[in-house]
Amino acid sequence: MAAQKPAQQNDHPDKYTEFVSRGLGRDLAKRLGLPQPAVLRRYTPGAPLVQGPILVVGHTEGSDAVASVLLSWGQDVRRHATPKEKLGAVVLVLDELAHPDQLSAPLREVGAALRDLNRNGRIISISGQVRSDDAPEVAAARNAVDGIMRSLAKELRAGSTANGVVLANGVLANAPSALSALRFFLSARSAFVDGQFLTAAAEGTAVQQDWDKPLQGRVAVVTGAARGIGAAIARTLARDGARVVVVDVPAAGDHLAAVANEIHGTALQLDITVTEAGARILDHAAQRHGRLDIVVHNAGITRDKLLANMDPGRWDSVIAVNIAAQLRMNQAFLASSHFTDNPRIISVSSTSGIAGNRGQTNYAASKAGVIGMVRATAPLLSGKGGTVNAVAPGFIETDMTAKIPFATREVARRLNSLQQGGKPGDVAEAIAFFASEASDGVTGNVLRVCGQNLVGQ
Ligand code: NAD
Repeated sequence: MAAQKPAQQNDHPDKYTEFVSRGLGRDLAKRLGLPQPAVLRRYTPGAPLVQGPILVVGHTEGSDAVASVLLSWGQDVRRHATPKEKLGAVVLVLDELAHPDQLSAPLREVGAALRDLNRNGRIISISGQVRSDDAPEVAAARNAVDGIMRSLAKELRAGSTANGVVLANGVLANAPSALSALRFFLSARSAFVDGQFLTAAAEGTAVQQDWDKPLQGRVAVVTGAARGIGAAIARTLARDGARVVVVDVPAAGDHLAAVANEIHGTALQLDITVTEAGARILDHAAQRHGRLDIVVHNAGITRDKLLANMDPGRWDSVIAVNIAAQLRMNQAFLASSHFTDNPRIISVSSTSGIAGNRGQTNYAASKAGVIGMVRATAPLLSGKGGTVNAVAPGFIETDMTAKIPFATREVARRLNSLQQGGKPGDVAEAIAFFASEASDGVTGNVLRVCGQNLVGQ
């Protein structure tokens, strides 16, 4: 990726969105039928969870339980829409679906409420996971939710999003893991997550959570943290209360030190491809902080070439940094006695690893490899009460994407349901959500932070 720039200077404003969001620019865009991306509401600690009452649709025990949890969170909850009353969110509880015929009534209720949804509103479904031993009509109904939410996400405007919580076998709608996912989707932390699902794989354990400081007392390490997305992750985890070890190559030492100072963390200059990288991180965390709870594998490189022109150096370096290093470090972490208290691993993948990308067979191999690794590591870590998940960013405004030629970049950043690129902080918020103790039981997920890219899967 590009030569090192100071961590603070990694802001890449989307001038088009700024232009069409007010005054003359807004009128012009309207007249010419140009995209009018909304200014997304981003998370700030202490701000209201949602902007307006939450309508809970559904008539099951699960929907009653979810409504009472929302009340206990201090939310303004409705069980029936009041005509013309503006809503902040709609939670659609479909936890007892047995046949597609049962979708009509609740979906009509949601449809009627859409007209009253505030800007940056939220629609969230809660439904059962499709299982191979489901009766065909049950599986049809459950899978139908997937199509509904992904389509609805494409219909919503003004920064509103539609996402879903999926309950694994036996997990209740008000299980701690499901509630953590619900809260993330409701909040402004999920601003750039659209048309996606999170699976609550296990019940999780109820924790006394300070929602403004969910990572208090936890120690995290973030690789590739001297700039870009990694620096944003380090800042976000620190904001949420974690003590953070930032890791990057020695060549990025100055910027790494600047990030560490800013967040009152510690810096470790380390090339993650060296054999002893995992041990070095564990030693540093143990000596400076006495423990290690959260590992964020963010460091990554691109060396793009069509496969016909790919040289071994490009191929091997991408595999070495983006996946082989993570596999080796995870072995060290899983074997360590310092990484045993509700440990969390979060890997940064990419939508290129899901949909593929021209000129990126090496990069897509590494990022799809990350997804395979995460799924296979989940059972290994659940034995220790831990979780492992991946976040797959789409188009994020960083030095990497700033280098894309203007016209290609404009097309890439508009081709999603939110018609804009995401910010490094959007990826960081998703990682902080997975890292929190409340997300116990949320494991093996690949969450796209891509505004629902319209191309690819
Ligand atoms: P970036 O190039 O700005 O930052 C990557 C950081 O990783 C750099 O500071 C670099 O020095 C560090 N790094 C590279 N090799 C390392 C090594 N061997 N050891 C330690 N540190 C190393 O990139 P970014 O845009 O911030 O991307 C961060 C992650 O997000 C990467 O894994 C990338 O593949 C992924 N991603 C980015 C985007 C995007 O749009 N920017 C999209 C999808 C995925």
